[in-house]
Amino acid sequence: QAMQNAPYLEGLNPEQRAAVETLEGPVLVLAGAGTGKTRVLTTRIAHILTENRAFPGQILAVTFTNKAAREMKERIGHLIGGNVEGMPWLGTFHSICVKILRRHAELVGLKSSFTILDTDDQLRLMKQVIQAEGLDEKRWTARAFASIIDGWKNRALTPDQLPEGEARGFGNGKGRKLYEEYQDRLSVLNAADFGDLLLHTITLFRKHPDILADYQRRFRYMLVDEYQDTNIAQYLWLRLLAQGNPNICCVGDDDQSIYGWRGAEVDNILRFEHDFKGAVVIRLERNYRSTSHILAAASHLIAHNEGRLGKTLFTDLADPDAERVQVANVWDSEEEARSIGEEIEALQAKGHRLNDMAILVRASFQMREFEDRFVTLGLNYRVIGGPRFYERMEIRDAMAYLRCVAQPADDLAFERIVNTPKRGLGEATLKIVHALARAERIPLTEAASRLCQTEELKPKARTSLKGLLSDFDRWRGQLETLPPGELAEIILDESGYTEMWRQDRSAEAPGRLDNLKELSHSIGEFESIAGFLEHVSLVMDRDGGPGDDAISLMTLHSAKGLEFDTVFLPGWEEGLFPHQRALDESGRAGLEEERRLAYVGITRAKRRAKIWFASNRRIHGLWQSTVPSRFLEELPEDQVEIVEQGSGYGGYGGGGFGSYGPSRFDNRDPFRSSYSTPGWQRAQKARAEAGSSGRSSGSGFAGRATLSERGRREGPKT
Ligand code: ATP
Ligand code: MG
Repeated sequence: QAMQNAPYLEGLNPEQRAAVETLEGPVLVLAGAGTGKTRVLTTRIAHILTENRAFPGQILAVTFTNKAAREMKERIGHLIGGNVEGMPWLGTFHSICVKILRRHAELVGLKSSFTILDTDDQLRLMKQVIQAEGLDEKRWTARAFASIIDGWKNRALTPDQLPEGEARGFGNGKGRKLYEEYQDRLSVLNAADFGDLLLHTITLFRKHPDILADYQRRFRYMLVDEYQDTNIAQYLWLRLLAQGNPNICCVGDDDQSIYGWRGAEVDNILRFEHDFKGAVVIRLERNYRSTSHILAAASHLIAHNEGRLGKTLFTDLADPDAERVQVANVWDSEEEARSIGEEIEALQAKGHRLNDMAILVRASFQMREFEDRFVTLGLNYRVIGGPRFYERMEIRDAMAYLRCVAQPADDLAFERIVNTPKRGLGEATLKIVHALARAERIPLTEAASRLCQTEELKPKARTSLKGLLSDFDRWRGQLETLPPGELAEIILDESGYTEMWRQDRSAEAPGRLDNLKELSHSIGEFESIAGFLEHVSLVMDRDGGPGDDAISLMTLHSAKGLEFDTVFLPGWEEGLFPHQRALDESGRAGLEEERRLAYVGITRAKRRAKIWFASNRRIHGLWQSTVPSRFLEELPEDQVEIVEQGSGYGGYGGGGFGSYGPSRFDNRDPFRSSYSTPGWQRAQKARAEAGSSGRSSGSGFAGRATLSERGRREGPKT
């Protein structure tokens, strides 16, 4: 058979090959990280095309991000040699749904030109609906409502399908009514929110079997990556399409399900075998990505989860020089950033490219310190899956306040925050202010203050504007007297900006509050607010183009599916990782999802993974001495080595790695008393002993011991 020699099939292991070649009927590939699931999907598409089983337009392929979709398209091109014509149905659930909806919009009460609302518009609309129902907006906030509706939409529930209890749960029993009203207004505005994209498509399919049948016929092959993170609506959508045509192949890893908080249902994996009759389940066990040390560390860690389907993983990547997973302790986040910066430069000096390195953080506020450090060092970096720290919405808002205070003529800043939080200074008022400013060629703030002396503005707006302007005056008066970090906090509190996010019930709000705290902290490092603003404009100015060599900085959530030679994992401390919020809100399930995140993090690394924990960290703005993450304790002793980060630690000799003695380590280790995990206490002791006996495992670090050495030293095994 000619296909036996197809170049793209070469090198696949038998299970991968089965997953590629079992084209008919449902296939579920359930396999751990780095086993080639995504590669199987890509190769499968190449195979379908090469064997002329379908045209590109007849293949539906779902990826988790748009970036992943682009990459998949590129790789398919490589595999079959030459460009892939089309593949119009390769994309995220959302992008595919938009495409379908544009064609049939009228059937769900929209026009094909419908707009997709951003969160801001969505909230404004919800607020109107809540007001129209005569509800107290303080008690029933638009944001709380938004997250409830999102939840319903994730479960594909239209207003008439809401379970009675839930329909009554919000807005004095008016939940369903509000939901209906909201949908109604969206329709009048010819708009859809994000959740609608799936919901409307499902409704369309359910109400119009002929259209569904059309798509069922069209999509001869369906493929889904990162299947473990689909929500119920996405699952129903897939099932509807696959009813006519069972050639669906989903690949996923239950251990990498990390979007439970956004409605993903890992149970969709279990449902698959049940709902897709005759499903073939293929397991891939060979990992092609990581060294055995990295794999062992990840496998060991994830074995602590109870709720898992269970898999084994092995690797043949035999490399006698492979580095063990390293764990390093630093004093605080500043030293962490400095030390990682040094490590990056050292790797660079040895010829490694920045493109092959990534820093994966648990919470986005952690990025700030790294970004600042990279700018100082002149290292190119890119933030994946989100804006850079100073580009985040809440940071831009906050800085707009600071700019208004420090630079009264900054019109753009003024416009940005004049009505954020809402204070009754809408379009109408702004128009009048603008007109005067233009006519007199004066800044907006000055125009505003002149208008406050007249009768031109509505009394309510005038009072509100006056209040804001006098706030600005007061804060300006404090510029000289208060330390900049403190003043920033005062401004954000007194303006109501922080409060706005405190009232916010969306999933992102707590992270935004953390970012604001981090901002105030970073301002505290400057002499003045003006100095800080100047620093930021310098940071923002540099712009590494996508083609440049740059280190990647991202959250663990954004790292899904990616791989790098070297992965740095900072901030492994209790409260930060596992994150306190996950523990508080979801208990054991929350902890297990955090552990899966850790598993995702470690398994991104091909050759080198290094974990860091700081002895002190600001959590919610307060300095705390920390407890090392329980996940550290869960790493296997043999594959992990503890290294001391002597380098760059100002005040402790500073002579580089070699001059670092154990007694010094003890001195600078103030968190010993709060050290509650016995294994690490032992390890630490061993570490100190190893140092004092002058032992070194030969890579230039003095004063370090590996956990396995510790075993030999202490254990009865030897
Ligand atoms: P994740 O769960 O992290 O998404 P995955 O299972 O999708 O991982 P891939 O990204 O497809 O894994 O593959 C991991 C790495 O292994 C890639 O670099 C891929 O090219 C490589 N790889 C996969 N299969 C093979 C193979 N048969 N031979 C050589 N390399 C392979
Ligand atoms: Mg993958």
